[in-house]
Amino acid sequence: MKFFSKFARKLFGGSSTEHAAPATADSRTSAKRVIPHDQHNIDRHRLDDNASKVVYRLTDSGHEGYLVGGCVRDLLMDLRPKDFDVATSASPEEAHELFRRSRLIGRRFKLLHVRFGREIIEVATFRASHDQPENDSGEKGRQSAAGMILRDNVYGTLAEDALRRDFTVNSLYYDLNDHSIIDFANGYEDMHKRTIRMIGDPGDRYREDPVRMLRAARFAAKLEFKIEPATAAPINELAPLLRNIAPARLFDESLKLFQSGHAERVYHLMQQYDLFEQLFPGPAAAIRNPQGYPVEELILNAFRNTDRRLRQRKSVTPAFLYAALLWYPMQQRMNQLLEDEQMPPLQALHEAANEIIGKQVRSTAIPRRFSTPIREIWEMQLRLPRHHGKRAERLTEHPRFRASYDLLLLRENSGEALDGLSTWWTEYQKENPVQRVYTEHRRDHDRDDKPRRRRRRTGDNNQGNNTGGHSNEHRNQDERGPRRNSNRRSESKD
Ligand code: ATP
Ligand code: MG
Repeated sequence: MKFFSKFARKLFGGSSTEHAAPATADSRTSAKRVIPHDQHNIDRHRLDDNASKVVYRLTDSGHEGYLVGGCVRDLLMDLRPKDFDVATSASPEEAHELFRRSRLIGRRFKLLHVRFGREIIEVATFRASHDQPENDSGEKGRQSAAGMILRDNVYGTLAEDALRRDFTVNSLYYDLNDHSIIDFANGYEDMHKRTIRMIGDPGDRYREDPVRMLRAARFAAKLEFKIEPATAAPINELAPLLRNIAPARLFDESLKLFQSGHAERVYHLMQQYDLFEQLFPGPAAAIRNPQGYPVEELILNAFRNTDRRLRQRKSVTPAFLYAALLWYPMQQRMNQLLEDEQMPPLQALHEAANEIIGKQVRSTAIPRRFSTPIREIWEMQLRLPRHHGKRAERLTEHPRFRASYDLLLLRENSGEALDGLSTWWTEYQKENPVQRVYTEHRRDHDRDDKPRRRRRRTGDNNQGNNTGGHSNEHRNQDERGPRRNSNRRSESKD
């Protein structure tokens, strides 16, 4: 990567370090290091105008304000950030006063959303640790007996905020006054070492928020970084803590994981760290006991497909991804119902679909706008073999035809014996181009997938285009901003 030689040169070209002691994974005290503008490779023209406006308004009003987190990390890697986050010394209420188009969100982790058209800049007040007892048992901060943070509104200084963040590479601040980068956690060096390292004691930090385990896998996959041994060590054992996380938050996380453009790598890391079975117990069981089906092949092919589509800047749909992930668990259950209960096929499919989706939403709450298409895509798998006469044309007019054909193709390409059915449909479509219908349906198919993004940026290939969530909003269990919450109907809640 061209960035690296440049990065290495700049990294060791010299920087002002106020104190040279390196941060270790298990120490929370760290040196402050400032990397001046001429010694890092972030081109100031790549900064987001609106995020910069927010920072300037805060600093002009006497507060501190910085760009922080993934945007600094990604710019250092020469990637286009998915979003720009701001950290400030202003309280959420003080910041709210400064921006007309802003709203406070979250109760357990209060934040401010500042809106610029479709773009939302998220402003977070510096957090401090919960070390003091008064910070951990009241309105500001609260932790469960198991160490999970339930409320995180204990405010602090910049230095404290830096050490409350998850990984060192996520804890870099961009100072717009002089375009320097401020680093309290040795994140800049870890960028160079291509390392995901937890700030503080990794076990404690995972217990505080188990989603950090998923984040470790996601960033390692996306950046092609390694997870530092002490940071990786507790994950297998602590992975079951993910069961304590709200399924709605885990659904959003699942999209971030698999629509990041690196789903295949994420999947392998999730398997390595026993994370996959926590989010997808049904598919994990089917992988272990495939009953003659190419279960893992299909899942891998679905991920490869998704990664390829994102590289080509095509849309990807959570419904399709989930339809693929859950297809064989559904089929296995359907087979049982056919054999044991002698149910007719369509009824068995509906029954199995209910059971499998019903089970899945206990881990990741699939919203209805996705679970309905999942059922339709599955039902179409039963209809696609019956294509005689006028039937074929009618099937191509079905709103889910395209996604259903894609799943059929995936099944056959993964090794399921379908007697060349997908080839038949490929040929049929070549001979019968139904452009108008096709385009409309394509649009319809895509519309379901419209992300609830907090902002729209013309993305690049490294970004999940529609994760729809934001982890700050969700950092604590059940923590959901009203904007995202208002129209959410998930299977588990209906
Ligand atoms: P991306 O936006 O590319 O997914 P990101 O690092 O910006 O990655 P966000 O979820 O946008 O991730 O969060 C912004 C920053 O907030 C992170 O970089 C990190 O510093 C902090 N953060 C987010 N979630 C957590 C968490 N669960 N625990 C600790 N810090 C967090
Ligand atoms: Mg971010």
